Amino acid sequence: MPAGLPDHLPHFVDGERRNSADGDTFEVADPVSNRPYATASAGRARDVDLAVAAARRAFAEGPWPLMTGRARARVLYRIADLIEDREARLAEWECFDTGLPITQALGQARRAAENFRFFADLVTTQTDEAYQVPGQQLNYVNRKPAGVAGLITPWNTPFMLESWKLAPALAAGCTVVLKPAEFTPLSASLWADIFAEAGLPRGVFNLVNGIGEEAGAALVSHPGSKLISFTGESATGQTIFRAAAPHLKALSMELGGKSPVVVFDDADLDAALDSALFGVFSLNGERCTAGSRILVQRGSYDDFVARLAARAERIVVGDPHDPKTEVGALVHPEHYQRVLRYVEIGRREATLVAGGGRPEHLPEGNYLAPTVFADVPPTARIFQEEIFGPVVALTPFDDEAEAIALANDVRYGLAGYVWTSDLARGHRVAHAVEAGMVWLNSHNVRDLRTPFGGVKASGLGHEGGRRSIDFYTEEQAVHVALHPVHTTRFGS
Ligand code: NAD
Repeated sequence: MPAGLPDHLPHFVDGERRNSADGDTFEVADPVSNRPYATASAGRARDVDLAVAAARRAFAEGPWPLMTGRARARVLYRIADLIEDREARLAEWECFDTGLPITQALGQARRAAENFRFFADLVTTQTDEAYQVPGQQLNYVNRKPAGVAGLITPWNTPFMLESWKLAPALAAGCTVVLKPAEFTPLSASLWADIFAEAGLPRGVFNLVNGIGEEAGAALVSHPGSKLISFTGESATGQTIFRAAAPHLKALSMELGGKSPVVVFDDADLDAALDSALFGVFSLNGERCTAGSRILVQRGSYDDFVARLAARAERIVVGDPHDPKTEVGALVHPEHYQRVLRYVEIGRREATLVAGGGRPEHLPEGNYLAPTVFADVPPTARIFQEEIFGPVVALTPFDDEAEAIALANDVRYGLAGYVWTSDLARGHRVAHAVEAGMVWLNSHNVRDLRTPFGGVKASGLGHEGGRRSIDFYTEEQAVHVALHPVHTTRFGS
């Protein structure tokens, strides 16, 4: 257990740590021992009320929403530096709480710092539109922070995904209430001190711990939260959509995925293999953009399956804190059982060629050997449903049309990966894949300026770059007459 771990994780409201109004708590366990190591305050409607009220006060009274972009950016740059100063501890806590391998947790900490720098850069260079109707009218956009943003985040890479919402929301001048995932609330407890040290005014950042159906639902249905940015499962997204409807709230939804990797015979097969393995087994396979369906052209299929299975068998599964570990422990016993059920379903639906259960050397903890199924029919549940663990489905195809049809034959549309040395075909297939993001001859590396998000059941709205700022701001159009205008006279 890392040194200095708190044994209780309270809320953070109006600049103070506080317990739930009713004093209730829930237990938080680590995924290696599955033993509780701390309690967290179980937030409910009353706690969300207090947090939203604090955020509303900080929004109405300022100074945060009225500060210049430059002044807010100075705070955001300090936040980025403070995250980096703490990156070792942050990675260690994240690794302990989530089961993510330590080297990957460190990468996520650095990405979190980068998110703050990026959105600080963006608001200092932001320009807005202005139009002239010569001699008659000047029109311009007055961009305003939207208000109190409710941020609801999942348990995979929690700190980084929180930063993905906090950085643009704060850069835009919003005040926020964060509801982190109940499986992994530990790293979120670091935000309060980081923000205070960086000089974020009191009440701008508020955090309510608790389970989704209580704390999360209260935040969604609270009339004081103007918008909700949510990342999580598609089914939860649907629930939130319904709950937000009576309030007509702005919603940004980053949801589940079942992304295809399409490998043509003419691809650089070594590169495709490296990328396919990393794409589905990094972050324990608990990755929204995981390439969890690998479609391989018939001429290379048998060879690709054999090589992928052999490499999967050699992946180092073990203690997340060991720098040699490539796949750690799945986040929670409930999730582990769910993934294991899919492995059993897969055994009936397809051919198991690697993994398929707990590694022998790891009798305890939520460990699963990287699992590979071949000859998976598109009707199989392991082809259609998001498993969110180290499990991959391989399916052969004959030609481009079949590859596209298979790629699109699921309800999700988050990411896609295409491997071919035929440039024209690469673009053609990329355009035809129903996905918010496609990588051609590459795994998932993303420039922060580009849109991020899914289509179909994978999401609504895109964040990333200026789109995130658009979400957290309102664009008011101001029309100014330059001369007396002719108005059709009524009533005289
Ligand atoms: P989840 O939907 O169970 O929970 C996400 C968050 O929503 C948690 O904080 C939870 O407490 C809260 N929540 C649950 N029910 C709620 C309700 N009724 N009202 C309000 N809030 C509620 O998701 P998870 O299991 O934590 O995360 C895994 C999922 O997230 C996967 O489907 C994955 O693909 C998806 N994900 C998507 C992206 C993306 O960018 N598209 C990124 C990461 C993860």
